[in-house]
Amino acid sequence: PFEVLVIGGGPAGASAAIYAARKGISTGIAAERFGGQVADTMGIENLISVPYTEGPKLVAAMEQHVKEYDVDIMNMQRAEKLLPASEAGGYHEVRLANGASLRARSVILSTGARWRQMGVPGEEEYRNKGVAYCPHCDGPLFKGKRVAVIGGGNSGVEAAIDLAGIVGHVTLLEFASELKADEVLQKKLRSLKNVEIVTSAQTTEVTGEGGKVNGLNYKDRDSGEEHHVSLEGIFVQIGLVPNTEWLKGDIELSKHGEIVVNERSETSIPGVFAAGDATTVPYKQIVISMGEGSKAALSAFDFLIRHEVP
Ligand code: FAD
Repeated sequence: PFEVLVIGGGPAGASAAIYAARKGISTGIAAERFGGQVADTMGIENLISVPYTEGPKLVAAMEQHVKEYDVDIMNMQRAEKLLPASEAGGYHEVRLANGASLRARSVILSTGARWRQMGVPGEEEYRNKGVAYCPHCDGPLFKGKRVAVIGGGNSGVEAAIDLAGIVGHVTLLEFASELKADEVLQKKLRSLKNVEIVTSAQTTEVTGEGGKVNGLNYKDRDSGEEHHVSLEGIFVQIGLVPNTEWLKGDIELSKHGEIVVNERSETSIPGVFAAGDATTVPYKQIVISMGEGSKAALSAFDFLIRHEVP
C-alpha cells in the first residue's frame, strides 16, 4: 500500500508525485499513458523559463524528473473504480482495468481531459498542422493569418475574441442557428471588425496542401449549400471533456464532469485530492496543472500527518 497514490501521469500527476516523494512518503503513480496531453503536443512556448520545447521532449523530462525519486511508476494502467476509505485516514482502494487493486491512505486524481473533436476528414491528419484546440497555446503561431473557430459557445466566442487581437481574420462557425455564448461576449465579438460569424454551419472537412491546413468546407444547414473558406488555422472549441467518467457517483463532479475541488485541492472525499484539467480549476494549461499537482501533494501530506490509520 501507498501513502500517496497518484492517478494520471500528465503534468499534474508528475508534479504531485515529485512533491509527495520529496516528503519521504511512499508514493505510486498509475497512468494510462504517462505524459498525457503533452505527448500529443508539438511546440510549447508558455512553460515559464522554457521559451520553447516540444511535447515528447517535455514528457521525457517529466518522466526523468519523477525517476529521480523513489516513485513506483505504473504506466499503461487504467483506473476503473475508486472505493473510498470507510474512515478518514484509512485506506482507499483503486481498481485497475487489469483486475489488480491499489491501496493508499491518500489519492490524488489527475486524469486530465480531452478536447472533443469534430470527427471530420482532415481533422486528425492536420492536427498540429493548422488544426488546434488551445488558443492560449497556439494563437500566436497564427499572427496576422486567417483562422476559423469552430463552436459558438462561451469557449468558442472567448477564443474568437482572443484570436481577433492576434490573427488577421477570424471566421466563427456555429452549428446551431444562433450563438450559445453569454450575451456580453457576443456583443464584444460583434464589435470586432475582423470577425465574421456564420451560424447554421456544419463543418464537413478540413482541407490542406503540402502538410498544412489551407481551408475548410462547411455546409449551410438551411440551404444545404457547400462552402469553402481559405485559411491557415482552425481552432476547435466544441468542448473539453474531463476523464472522470469512472468516478461518477463516487465523488462530487460539476455539471461538466469536472472533479469539484476547493483551494486546497480537496474533493468531496476526505483524503482524496485532485489536480489539473480534470478539476473545476479554470484555465487548462501545463503550468497551471503543474502548480495544482504540487498543491494537491502538499495537501495530501498535510492530511496524512493529521490522520492516524484508524
Ligand atoms: P493530462 O495531460 O490530460 O494527463 C492526464 C493523465 O491521466 C494521462 O497520463 C492519462 O493517460 C491519465 N489517465 C486518464 N484517465 C485515466 C484513468 N482512468 N486511469 C489512469 N490514468 C488515466 N498547455 C500549455 O500550457 N501549453 C501548450 O502549448 C499546450 N498545448 C496543447 C496542445 C494540445 C494539442 C493539447 C491537447 C493540449 C495543450 N495544452 C497546452 C494543454 C495541456 O496539455 C493540459 O492543460 C495539461 O496536459 C493538463 O495536464 P493534466 O496532468 O491535468 O492532464
